[in-house]
Amino acid sequence: MEVRFLDLRVNDPDERKEIMTAVERILDHGRILLGPEVEEFEHELAQYCGTNHAIGVGSGSIALFCALKALDIGHGDEVITTSLSFVGTANGIALAGATPVFIDIRDDLTMDPQRIEAAISPRTKAIMPVHFTGKLCQMEEIQTIADRHGLYVIEDAAPAIGAERDGKRAGKFGIMGCLSLNPMKVLGACGEAGAVVTDDPILREKLEAIRYNGLIGRERCEFASTNARIDTIQSAILISRLKRLEGIIARRRKIAARYNTALKGLVQVPEEAPGCRDVYYTYTIQADDRDGLTNYLSERGIESKLQHPSLMPHHPQYQGTDLKQLPVGSRAVNRVLCLPANEKLADQEVDYVIEHVQAFYKN
Ligand SMILES: *Cc1c(COP(=O)(O)O)cnc(C)c1O
Repeated sequence: MEVRFLDLRVNDPDERKEIMTAVERILDHGRILLGPEVEEFEHELAQYCGTNHAIGVGSGSIALFCALKALDIGHGDEVITTSLSFVGTANGIALAGATPVFIDIRDDLTMDPQRIEAAISPRTKAIMPVHFTGKLCQMEEIQTIADRHGLYVIEDAAPAIGAERDGKRAGKFGIMGCLSLNPMKVLGACGEAGAVVTDDPILREKLEAIRYNGLIGRERCEFASTNARIDTIQSAILISRLKRLEGIIARRRKIAARYNTALKGLVQVPEEAPGCRDVYYTYTIQADDRDGLTNYLSERGIESKLQHPSLMPHHPQYQGTDLKQLPVGSRAVNRVLCLPANEKLADQEVDYVIEHVQAFYKN
């Protein structure tokens, strides 16, 4: 048996038909740049996230840059973030002109709020928690600290659309939330896409200018920016896929529950906090002899994924953090492994993975 980590083919005939119809509609009306589908998608997305506004942008990476820029965070400013994330988090901060300050994680792989206060300096402007793997950070604790010190909270919710605590969804906790909608994410377009969600109408206006060269009213440039617009065709595809998102999340959670029951005790499984709904962008275990397990699974046709093999401050660009300050993260990067958990997997495939993880640890 072959178990693929991800399968980006569109093989559901209904979904394929919906996508083709949407694309044809755009070819017919011809409003290809910021066409009516963009606004429609933004409306639907904001409604889904429970925010007043959503602004479509070109990617999750550029969403982070846009959000920081909307708050005038840049040169000379510091942004406290987690040490374990896709490096796009740190790059968003750096491209805005600010400096990322990396803190350690909890055992659940999200930012440790207890490490925040020691990292605050007179230059700190914001905290950027990352809902790593599709699990919400400790948002209440983080917001309390932010309020105490007059800092903004901007969520890197790139992997976590639909994640909830007590019914409140990712992106709704901070002043802004940044989403990635690339095809690998839980809600993905058929190409690059992202969004910023917020309740604030002034930020909405500013973000609209930021996403197209700092232009206000098409002609007046008020600050330097770039082209970060979302594509109209991708927006149309996302409108159709957003309708399927709850089903996708439910299936991923079912797969995760099946893994958890079978693998608990053999490896460290991702457990959910009370009141939380994780969305399992990745189903990430922490395992002894991780590399041995990876090879064992690979020899049996099971594709797993190492995400990420190093902390952000391990990258040459971001060196300088004392790694002794990151004990939990430093240990975790040698133990993390993502098992296939995409919604297209059949129960037999999940059971096949389980069988071989169990066999590996019995040998
Ligand atoms: C996917 C991801 C990004 C980048 O999103 P793109 O749409 O690929 O640019 C940024 N941060 C995190 C945590 C992500 O998972």
